[in-house]
Amino acid sequence: MKSYPMIIGGKAVETGSTIAVINPALGEPFAQVHAADAALADVAVAAARAAFPAWSATPDAERSRLLHALGSALDSHTPELMELVTCETGKPLRGLNDVGAGMELAGAIAWTHFTADIPLEPELVQDDEQARVEVHRKPLGVVASITPWNWPLMISIWHVIPALRAGNTVVIKPSEYSPVAVSRFVELANAILPPGVLNVVNGAATVGAALTGHPDVNKIVFTGSTRTGKQIMSGASATLKRLTLELGGNDAGIVLPDVDVKAVAPKLFGAGFHNNGQTCACLKRLYVHDSQYEAMCEELARLARNAKVGNGLDAGVDLGPVQNRAQLDIVNALAVDAREAGGHILAGGKPLESKGFFFEPTIVAGLTNGSRLVDEEQFGPILPVVRYSDVDEAIRLANDNPNGLGGSVWSTDSAAALAVARRLECGTVWINEHGAVQPNAPFGGVKQSGIGVEFGKHGLAEFTSIQTVKISKS
Ligand code: NDP
Repeated sequence: MKSYPMIIGGKAVETGSTIAVINPALGEPFAQVHAADAALADVAVAAARAAFPAWSATPDAERSRLLHALGSALDSHTPELMELVTCETGKPLRGLNDVGAGMELAGAIAWTHFTADIPLEPELVQDDEQARVEVHRKPLGVVASITPWNWPLMISIWHVIPALRAGNTVVIKPSEYSPVAVSRFVELANAILPPGVLNVVNGAATVGAALTGHPDVNKIVFTGSTRTGKQIMSGASATLKRLTLELGGNDAGIVLPDVDVKAVAPKLFGAGFHNNGQTCACLKRLYVHDSQYEAMCEELARLARNAKVGNGLDAGVDLGPVQNRAQLDIVNALAVDAREAGGHILAGGKPLESKGFFFEPTIVAGLTNGSRLVDEEQFGPILPVVRYSDVDEAIRLANDNPNGLGGSVWSTDSAAALAVARRLECGTVWINEHGAVQPNAPFGGVKQSGIGVEFGKHGLAEFTSIQTVKISKS
């Protein structure tokens, strides 16, 4: 079984303790990573701190050049990294609508190159006979990145590249469920970056908690559950760390009654089930008008029954396993509860007989807000389809949730869709698509889905502090 070291201060670090990484398609380990404890997390923070003065003083164009080199390294190692992502997450190499490990790599590469070129110029707010006033952006220092298991490499890139671009140094702690591709990426990156600029430590929540409370960490960028996000916010308060928290979502989609059901259903199915529903901004609750409810449910159930579920390394597989046993148990518990609450399971409904963590793609009709499957984030291949009879009711039901990450409206009438979209309480709203993020558009949650945004110039700004410079002329 291949073993992956941590990288701290530019050096490979192996410890007496390892984490076995399970391939969820087989339910057995395929690789291991070396694990840190809180003391080693300290060493990594010290390495990042030591590297900060030189990295933050590196000319902007040189930092940009090195980040493009990271993008090229991802590019030239794509087949290897794709296979690691598939083995540790279960997502197919290609997958439903091409949303698989190939897309994870392509996205990581695209985000790296785009972010490497975002300008960080000072803003001139006044220049007259009294004074010249400029607003400068300065790096924060050491950034700790804590990442989840669903898109391990892409989310790491979303954290690491803007942090480095702005002149910070980074310690990343990937999820213990999926640390392999990230560990390999950091190894590749360390052949390009100066030692200590990018470090990786593996370990359980204790290592994340050590970073969160560390006095020499200036910012935490975290993607994961709302529950953990709140713990991180609390741990970070003693030292008033800057935070970007990208937390859970329970995204609603509202289908207006003018759509062509057969044309729209495959898009809705893709939005709800890509990566097996394990994406923060997947479609997680679907509201369909009375007049089209039966037809839409029937069409979605047909698509669910036809989706090919299997080992993501095999050709033609649409959906892999759920990423880990605990998540499979959550999905199964929600399915059991949905049945008991009077939901009609139109397709799927149970785990597959297998050593792997497979769950049948599942469509549930007949539930509404107040049932667990509608109210809670399922993060798995099970979608509730909820009936509504007027649009105001649909908007009220969509907003009746503590989460506010994404939302969508589906219609042939873009003005009508926009009017509904603007009333949804969420950080991003899509019309006739869902969950499609891009490197130039800010993305983040409102309500309990997070704090701050990622991507583009707004996302980059979150890795800086403002320094206002006033030069008096009088
Ligand atoms: P968590 O939020 O628990 O884990 C995300 C990351 O945080 C992991 O690296 C984890 O480490 C780390 N972590 C856990 N506890 C702490 C802590 N106290 N301090 C610092 N870091 C910590 O997500 P789970 O993996 O447990 O998934 C649970 C739920 O979260 C899912 O059911 C889903 O609803 C949601 N989720 C949302 C995601 C999103 O993209 N918005 C992504 C993943 C999950 P480790 O894994 O090693 O314990």
